[in-house]
Amino acid sequence: MALTPMMVQYFSVKEKCKDAILFYRLGDFYEMFFEDAKIASKELELVLTGRNCGLEEKAPMCGIPYHAANNYILRLVNKGYKVAICEQLEDPKAAKGIVKRDIIKIVTPGTYTDSSFLEDTKNNYIMSIYYNEKDKYTGISFADISTGEFLSTVALSDLSIVYDEISKFDPKEMIIVDTIDENVIKEIKERFPIYITVKDETYFRENARENTRKTFTSFNEDYYEDNMIYSVNALLNYIYETQKASLSNIFNIEVYNVNNFLTIDINSRRNLEITETLRDKTKKGSLLWILDKTSTAMGGREIRRWLEQPLINKTDITERLDAVEEIKNNIALHEEIKANLKDIYDIERIVGKVSAKSVNAKELLALKMSIGQLPSVKTNLLNFKTNLLSRMYSNLDLLEDVYKILDSSIKDSPSLSVKDGDIIKEGFNEEIDSLRQAKLNGKKWIAALEQQEKQSTGIKSLKVSYNGVFGYYIEVTKTNLDLVPENYIRKQTLANAERYITEELKEMESKILGAEEKLLKLEYSLFIEIRDKIESEVERMKKSAKILAQLDSLSSLAKVALDNNYCKPKINEKGEINIKEGRHPVVEKMIPSGGFISNDSYINEKDQQLILITGPNMAGKSTYMRQIALITIMAQMGSFIPAKEANLSICDKVYTRIGASDDLANGKSTFMVEMWEVANILKNATKNSLILLDEVGRGTSTYDGLSIAWSVIEYICNNPDMKSKTLFATHYHELVNLEGKVDGVVNYSVSVKKIGKEIAFLRKIVRGGADESYGIEVAKLAGLPEQVLSRARTILKELEFNQKKANNIEEKEALVSQEISLGLEGKQMDFNELEKDNLICELKNMDLLNMTPIECLNKLNKICEKAKFV
Ligand code: ATP
Repeated sequence: MALTPMMVQYFSVKEKCKDAILFYRLGDFYEMFFEDAKIASKELELVLTGRNCGLEEKAPMCGIPYHAANNYILRLVNKGYKVAICEQLEDPKAAKGIVKRDIIKIVTPGTYTDSSFLEDTKNNYIMSIYYNEKDKYTGISFADISTGEFLSTVALSDLSIVYDEISKFDPKEMIIVDTIDENVIKEIKERFPIYITVKDETYFRENARENTRKTFTSFNEDYYEDNMIYSVNALLNYIYETQKASLSNIFNIEVYNVNNFLTIDINSRRNLEITETLRDKTKKGSLLWILDKTSTAMGGREIRRWLEQPLINKTDITERLDAVEEIKNNIALHEEIKANLKDIYDIERIVGKVSAKSVNAKELLALKMSIGQLPSVKTNLLNFKTNLLSRMYSNLDLLEDVYKILDSSIKDSPSLSVKDGDIIKEGFNEEIDSLRQAKLNGKKWIAALEQQEKQSTGIKSLKVSYNGVFGYYIEVTKTNLDLVPENYIRKQTLANAERYITEELKEMESKILGAEEKLLKLEYSLFIEIRDKIESEVERMKKSAKILAQLDSLSSLAKVALDNNYCKPKINEKGEINIKEGRHPVVEKMIPSGGFISNDSYINEKDQQLILITGPNMAGKSTYMRQIALITIMAQMGSFIPAKEANLSICDKVYTRIGASDDLANGKSTFMVEMWEVANILKNATKNSLILLDEVGRGTSTYDGLSIAWSVIEYICNNPDMKSKTLFATHYHELVNLEGKVDGVVNYSVSVKKIGKEIAFLRKIVRGGADESYGIEVAKLAGLPEQVLSRARTILKELEFNQKKANNIEEKEALVSQEISLGLEGKQMDFNELEKDNLICELKNMDLLNMTPIECLNKLNKICEKAKFV
């Protein structure tokens, strides 16, 4: 048996999209066959039927109406499938033989462009990585085809950088070269919910430079690493493969350097809850939730980007801060800007649809209305003096020509589908106007006919109506059939009535329908002309959209600053962080108004480099540390900050080792993950980095943990390549002895007041170490049964007593012999012993042959100075 011709066509199309579910258009339905049908029927809960395909057994089949396709496509894509859309490419009525069909688009998670299903204020990125173990650099590119953004970078071939970039852009889909180790791909899949497509090297490398040059005409690709160009090429290839066309909104490539932005490593992004909360992954409760008061979707995406990529260049940061200040100080203007922005739609995504040729008339109308706001926005900008806002004023293109085209051509309430007519404005095209007139006259004639026939026949109930099968007809009820005149031609018999046509009625019908058909065709072709004209201005529209997005973000930051009583930070490059009365921007919103206790912070590169924070559980140590990191991030994105005043040193990287990690699910233990993260920090942090370490070492036995914490502190403070600004919260009270022993370590604690058996949290950070943990008191607050608490108190007393005894009598010797090498004599460390060891070590490690006499002298001097205290 042979396949039917349609099935032959089906298989030839399916051959081109083996990894996708094929939606095959048959009339008003998309049908799926064979394996695709089985998957789709299961995933979409559709009835699985069969269709004769020429073979002995019917082909499994299921289908969906074409007008409801979007929902089904989205559901499949969200479940991790690609969907290939195969359309009829000719009018079935005009087709000779089988209707021509082909794939017009492949929908994938990262190339989905239907804005009704995209998050308004979040980019939908697709990423490509070209990584080769032998190569020093990895090429990374991102694109959001709904807005036309295209970004590329080269980074050192270090997976932690790749992970940081993934967590920064949060792509939905990724294209990876098949030379990457399978375990790496597995790890990416485990860590991130990303749809991954693996392509071979040729896909990345073939004609890479040529393709890049062709798409980005004003970009000189000669200056860039091969691996970056390969990642660009793969992304362009993939976009072409899925969209079946190049997109005119992708014409500009933004090459960025990961080192030109504040690096916020993946753990910090999660733990500091920058764009979403750790627990339920929602925006509410994150820093973005506080800062995003934008009025447009474009502004929403822009402010998210600013927060994901804070700046490190002082001039750029200051420009944003100055602009925010100027808007904030100009309340009336600020209100006007917000009012003007409120009426602006998502120009970037509408322009994206213009490029993808999927825009409809309603969206063009929205584009017109948005462009119509530009003159008012420009007038608002005219009044500003600061650099950034003045530049925005000069660069804002009012797009008057685009406005004129749209205003003259698109009706005020056009129909949704571009093929249904009713799009073009009266007066735009003479032929359209006269066809509409003809259609209208015809309809009037028909309305008059009913009256006229009622009179001439005397049938009061006579009706002239229309249906899709017979066109116009005259309906007469059975009781009046004897009055029907001779020229009526019977067409249909119903239970109670007969339907007729007349020669003249049919003549008028063909005039009306002819006019209608012509009208639809003409309106559609004019719409395409208008769309293409608009498309040639994509670049200008995108530039104006960018300025609106920036203005919206600045205006949002100004509003937040005003509403929350934030201050403008001063920015320095001297390595000093000085915050007066700082607050945590999110926690202060979560607790009753005015309940947050502000705190000062001071860190410098010389004698106050590592702040060791001790204090009871629940006292506010983590909150305090996080608030310093969040304030730094906010300032570097150009935002005012929750403090009375501040002078902040620009940071290059923010690292955190706080709380549990998602990796637990990936088969690593809490302690392993903790150590892995600490190792990463010690490897990458510099003297300009800000590190938050919360209870490092707590995941193992007391002495192991204590020793690791101690040694990490020494490493950070003594290693000349590190010396990072660090906040270190700990319950190991023994570590307070490091102040004065390790340069840069300074003790602080969070104060509490003990009233009888109760404790009151004062939340104030004070100089000096804490002596007690109050763990049992906090456990009491948490509601632990009294029986457990009282037993815990007894055990604690016993332990303390034994410890004291051990310190005083013979057992001391046993303990000392175990611990002296660690410097952990009893529970109290012997710092003198350790310091001696350190000094010997330093002397041993002096590389005399490679040191100048001056260097030797300086080093010896330092060692002598230290020896005086031993
Ligand atoms: P642990 O050592 O048990 O982890 P912690 O010292 O790190 O505790 P945090 O988690 O920072 O304590 O704070 C506990 C709670 O105290 C916070 O959830 C917050 O509600 C409140 N809090 C912290 N700091 C302040 C503050 N400065 N003003 C008011 N409330 C605060």
